[in-house]
Amino acid sequence: MNKACLPWFGLDIGGTLVKLVYFEPCNSQLNCEGQEKVGLEAMQDFIKSNIHYGENGTRDEVLAIKNVVLGGREGHLHFIRFPTDVIENFLVIAKELHASVLNNKVCATGGGAFKFEKDFREVLGVQLVKYDELECLIHGIHFINSCCVHEFYYWNNLHCLEKSEKVPYDFTNDSYPYIVVNIGSGVSILSVESAEKFSRISGTSLGGGTFLGLCCLLTGCESFEEALSMAEDGDSTKVDKLVRDIYGGDYTKFGLPGDLVASSFGKMNCEENRSLVSNKDLARAMLVTITNNIGSIARMCAVNQKIGRVVFVGNFLRKNTIAMKLLSYAMDYWSKGTLKALFLKHEGYFGACGALLELMT
Ligand code: ADP
Repeated sequence: MNKACLPWFGLDIGGTLVKLVYFEPCNSQLNCEGQEKVGLEAMQDFIKSNIHYGENGTRDEVLAIKNVVLGGREGHLHFIRFPTDVIENFLVIAKELHASVLNNKVCATGGGAFKFEKDFREVLGVQLVKYDELECLIHGIHFINSCCVHEFYYWNNLHCLEKSEKVPYDFTNDSYPYIVVNIGSGVSILSVESAEKFSRISGTSLGGGTFLGLCCLLTGCESFEEALSMAEDGDSTKVDKLVRDIYGGDYTKFGLPGDLVASSFGKMNCEENRSLVSNKDLARAMLVTITNNIGSIARMCAVNQKIGRVVFVGNFLRKNTIAMKLLSYAMDYWSKGTLKALFLKHEGYFGACGALLELMT
């Protein structure tokens, strides 16, 4: 059994969200007594008796994984997130729960593991042991896939996106090679040859943070959830200039269909068009613009590397069916069916999970 002190956490402190994975050992495996046991039980009760923590913390209950074996112990994995902006509040709560008395070392990844290292030490008395975020991401993907049934899926029926549905994809027996596109605040693209051999091949600063930031600016919305729900009811073709707006139909010589976006936001130079669009249309156009741009870069990377499977992760995809279907369609259409877009249930939690695994080494 792994000797690391309980409780076991993995932390990924990103540019927008902090992701925390908590391993809850089965009670019979607590292996401690007295004050330590009381403290652990109090922390466990706090985590499990809430789904929301304060105004901004959330436990994604549907993502919990039961009966996982980690470091020789059996237990359950819980997944929690909160905005990086309120990390001070998290430190206060963790202090009240005497987290540092129980375990004064926490494995952490993400840029915030560097930025907030001093705060963890001074406020909480906890030492952050830092690990590389892309290594944690890949290790996390493989670990979660090994303990969660149907972690991978794809979208079918791409010729009729309204009818497109999720279909489980078995990744376990034929894992390599693949491309990973991590869409967080920004985007990183990796080429993965094996669990230990991978490299960052590209990226773009136009990511989930750009979608949310520009949506807030353009529409006055105040959250990711609000931006997505506006986008769901919006019509991006009132905002974007399509091939048919320029050609009156398809651009047949080069096989460009009339409903293809020729210029994102290209109708918004005209006062009359501006007066006809709603905030919902703008939100939809923002979502389509950012998603198509990421899809296009991801496709070029896959073609360059001669790799057929592109795995999209990161919290930009959280509850974001529109983006997932668009990415699936774009991969399939532009590659004439040779590229496949894959998605994972635990979207943004792989880095935190990879950090948790480091405790076991
Ligand atoms: P990072 O590690 O850079 O914080 P994440 O993978 O956590 O990246 O993704 C952050 C992105 O996820 C945001 O830019 C936004 O597009 C999206 N997102 C999803 N849920 C939320 C949320 N509740 N609050 C803010 N952004 C969210």
